[in-house]
Amino acid sequence: MSHQVIPPGSTVGVLGSGQLGRMFTIAARRLGYRVHTLSPEDDTPTGQVADLEVRAAYEDLDAVRRFARGVSAVTFEFENVPAAAAAAAAELVPVRPGGEVLHTTQHRGREKAFLVAAGIPVAPHARVGSLAELEAALVRLGTPAVLKTAGWGYDGKGQSRIDRPADAAKAWAALGHTDAVLEAFVDFEREVSVVAARGLDGSFTHWGVLANDHARHILDVTTTPAPVSPAVEREAVELARTIVERLQVVGVLCVELFLLKDGRLLVNELAPRPHNSGHLTVDASNTCQFEQQLRAICGLPLGDTTTRPAAMANLLGDLWNPTSGSVTPPRFDLALRDPGVKLHLYGKLAARPGRKMGHLTCVAADPAEARRRVLAARAALTPITS
Ligand code: AMP
Repeated sequence: MSHQVIPPGSTVGVLGSGQLGRMFTIAARRLGYRVHTLSPEDDTPTGQVADLEVRAAYEDLDAVRRFARGVSAVTFEFENVPAAAAAAAAELVPVRPGGEVLHTTQHRGREKAFLVAAGIPVAPHARVGSLAELEAALVRLGTPAVLKTAGWGYDGKGQSRIDRPADAAKAWAALGHTDAVLEAFVDFEREVSVVAARGLDGSFTHWGVLANDHARHILDVTTTPAPVSPAVEREAVELARTIVERLQVVGVLCVELFLLKDGRLLVNELAPRPHNSGHLTVDASNTCQFEQQLRAICGLPLGDTTTRPAAMANLLGDLWNPTSGSVTPPRFDLALRDPGVKLHLYGKLAARPGRKMGHLTCVAADPAEARRRVLAARAALTPITS
């Protein structure tokens, strides 16, 4: 692999056009880079702040090659970009992280197999390709269990919990009779993540252990530092280091973990890109996850990740009251009455229940205070109707 630096002033390409690409673009422009984005949509969160927005299907490999010719490196902002698109771009410019990272993390079965082979602890699980296999796996793993599609799942989509073996057929039908992974239900103490970065030179940085609360399977609040022991912190970071090194990641990767009541950690999922739980690094860290992604893919030295105590609360489309008939943005001024609270909005044109529209961050003297203030700021927005 070439260790040539792609210097500021160059153009980098992003496959995908959501909020992760938007925040990456803002960071990249601050360092003097130009950014092009390709996705099947127009007027996107990324496109609104990029130098060029290309609308094309990821399957249109000629369009992907044309796009790649205009940039010095390609990265992606969501891991479900078809592997063929990454491969087409890689014919022309470096794609970072590489296509093999995408290939492994796009499919829960492959991801689990990689983790097991790397000696990383995961929940008991089985790959299932038919109802008979599901029934057999339920006998082996017991109930409750969680059935997940092998591909294209995120934020709990393509998942169902099975409480009794008799519910197997219903769950199998609900998933659409597709290649899947059955996992034993994990009775965790809390969910945590480690957002880590690996540079082109193999250097490693991370932002410590982040504590994540979910609501309706969607990340709701992240707090840093997580209230975990130094031993758990060390182990979580070492797991992340092993994963990025084994995968030879160049860029940012998030490891989502379950912390069990006995202090053990199990890896739930990998996201080979900046992650929602790392958004607070924009306001709380010397180098945020998006700038680190840029530095990594451009072969620059990685930046210092010292982070102050902070909390982040997601703003979902529900706050726009989209079911009432008239979509009304919340009163952001009410959230900003706390002068320490920062507002990030993603420029999405339509609000839908569960859609990530933005987030609030608060940096404070300690994580409990940051969390209390960010939640108070969100609660001050116009109420959600249930
Ligand atoms: P995932 O899409 O795998 O990240 O799952 C979304 C959320 O569902 C997780 O953050 C957990 O809150 C929950 N979840 C997923 N898998 C399990 C499991 N095996 N046991 C308990 N909860 C789970």
